[in-house]
Amino acid sequence: MIQDISDLVTLFPDASPTPGDCVLSLNREEKVALAPWTQVSTATIPLVRVGERTFFLGATPGVELGTTQQLRALPEPGLRFGAFCALHLAKWLLTHRHCGRCAAPLARAKGCLKCPECGLETYPTIAPAVILGLTHRGRLLVTRYADRPYKGPALVAGYCEVGETAEETCRREALEETNLKVTDVRYFASQPWGLSGSLLLGFFGEVEDPAALRLADGELSVAEWLAPNELPPPPDAAGALSLTAAMIEAFAKGSVR
Ligand SMILES: [Zn+2]
Repeated sequence: MIQDISDLVTLFPDASPTPGDCVLSLNREEKVALAPWTQVSTATIPLVRVGERTFFLGATPGVELGTTQQLRALPEPGLRFGAFCALHLAKWLLTHRHCGRCAAPLARAKGCLKCPECGLETYPTIAPAVILGLTHRGRLLVTRYADRPYKGPALVAGYCEVGETAEETCRREALEETNLKVTDVRYFASQPWGLSGSLLLGFFGEVEDPAALRLADGELSVAEWLAPNELPPPPDAAGALSLTAAMIEAFAKGSVR
């Protein structure tokens, strides 16, 4: 998966840009570009260091911005994971400019933003969310989103709500998105996913009555029960980068049921 790298990761390192570092540019429409740092890069803020390479938030003249999905195609594991973490932190930084208590401009402090007026510390926001592989007698329910830029195979997914356990999120999302009731929920693995600022928690859940399947309007466009040998290959050239792809791969290999 995308987080499986051997390099050391440091958030908000104390660093100045040098050749070999990267600059992530991000605009209000959440279009991004990752470019090598050069002397013409501007407004650089250190976001994350992966191994020897630091990722800065900034601007690079002449570099065209594109969708965040393009970061999945970066060629090197450390570069890819660094770009995901940098995007997560950049989106948070750019939407937390002022103190939520007294509205003073926030200043960067160790691992957080701190209000110089009232002392409030604000830490990077991580949104927990579940990915749920619904199973029925050796088949996996594979879906596709109706209206998202990502068009590859998907599983049932959703954000955890206040007061809810991850297992309860799984049961609620399964019911809301597919009208299916899950009898058991088994933990699989987790994954930090910078594209959505999330910590994804992967589970499998067996469905008793697949005939109850009804897709909620607008969320999912297709849902099929597929046997292990019918499952699609990972959508990324580098293999199973996402938790969803790793779950589909594990099911295809028979390592989960
Ligand atoms: Zn304040």
